Amino acid sequence: MAPQFEPPRADPIRVGDVEARLVALRARIAAAGRNPDEVTIMAVTKAFGPDAADAALALGLETLGENYVQEMVAKVPLVRVPTGVRPEWHFIGRLQRNKVRHLVGLVDVIETLDRASLAREIARRMPAQRVFVQVNISGEAQKGGCAVADTTALVEEARGLGLRVEGLMGVAAAGDLDRARNQFRTLRELADDLALEQRSMGMTADLEAALAEGSTIIRVGSALFGPRPPRNPG
Ligand SMILES: *Cc1c(COP(=O)(O)O)cnc(C)c1O
Repeated sequence: MAPQFEPPRADPIRVGDVEARLVALRARIAAAGRNPDEVTIMAVTKAFGPDAADAALALGLETLGENYVQEMVAKVPLVRVPTGVRPEWHFIGRLQRNKVRHLVGLVDVIETLDRASLAREIARRMPAQRVFVQVNISGEAQKGGCAVADTTALVEEARGLGLRVEGLMGVAAAGDLDRARNQFRTLRELADDLALEQRSMGMTADLEAALAEGSTIIRVGSALFGPRPPRNPG
């Protein structure tokens, strides 16, 4: 596949700005009653250039998230990884089966496993791949994720295929934070039932609600890098 990745229209990322936002983010986590050192902050770099990932790594944020296969394929090789650092790349976007092969060797965790056909393709191309099952906790048709009621069967199917299911991932409905918290609670209860350690939930707008429900990984873009530039086509 020819990488299609134009330089983003964003202003260059300044490490000092990201550092100041990270201080504020850690204060938000602490104010939500959680120890910032015990919550993984995933730096979501979608729509930003490799300089966003450079800044995150320079500041010790080693878990990075991307949403689009082509963007990720083009960007990852351009990231400047400090000596001794091993970034952990998570894929957090909708994943088509025919794109899975492009992620081989590039991704550490696929967080958006949401159907059996995708599990089979991942297992075929990437044996023993680390995955999270994405659950559609908001019930919105436009969101990815398996239905809440299908979660156990999908986790078992993925395990049967040899995939390493490490956690669940969910995106709450935008807007009402009490409603978001209820949706995060659903994810936590499912993860508890399935004895899955990782709960990837919460983003810039709703991370307090997610942290209150035991999130182990928050996925944060704009609170670290500022407003996202418009996405390039492709
Ligand atoms: C973009 C994105 C995020 C980060 O969103 P922010 O609001 O910028 O923090 C988190 N999770 C998913 C699945 C995303 O697509």
